[in-house]
Amino acid sequence: MNFDVTPIIHRRNILYPRLEFRTGRLELILPIDTDETEILEKYHDWIIEKNTFIQEMLDLSATLSFENRTKDELIHLVKEFPETRKHDDVQIKFRKMNTKWASCSNNKTITINSLAQYLPAYHLKYILSHEFLHLTIRQHNTLFKDILLQQYPDMERLERELCGYWFKLNLSR
Ligand SMILES: [Zn+2]
Repeated sequence: MNFDVTPIIHRRNILYPRLEFRTGRLELILPIDTDETEILEKYHDWIIEKNTFIQEMLDLSATLSFENRTKDELIHLVKEFPETRKHDDVQIKFRKMNTKWASCSNNKTITINSLAQYLPAYHLKYILSHEFLHLTIRQHNTLFKDILLQQYPDMERLERELCGYWFKLNLSR
């Protein structure tokens, strides 16, 4: 079988095959004694789909530029947002996170990934609105999305760009 994009293949002492794309290229990690051809055929469509997505994100990330902001400036900016002022009972924390831009916990604490210091203010504001909304709606349900969409009609673009920024920040080092 021919692949437009062949993943980099590693063999490890593991039970199940898995895929990673840390380097910006798809890497297939296989148990030592599996048949590579069989796996590649079984996951062919999925691999092509993932690769296309990665390529799109890398292309997009190349068009995005970072804000030159310090961590203190990030904290200041977040504090000044009207959304933050409105929720002055919510504690906002900053720390480096490996899997997401922000999170919201039950005890009224919102944690923001300190890497967000490089994001445009509008993207940052969007991330905060998303987390503040979690104070009342936990799930990403239709209502949740509708409310955000009213406030951010360009939400789909924002989500894509945030994904692009994630690629840019996490793959460029
Ligand atoms: Zn969420």
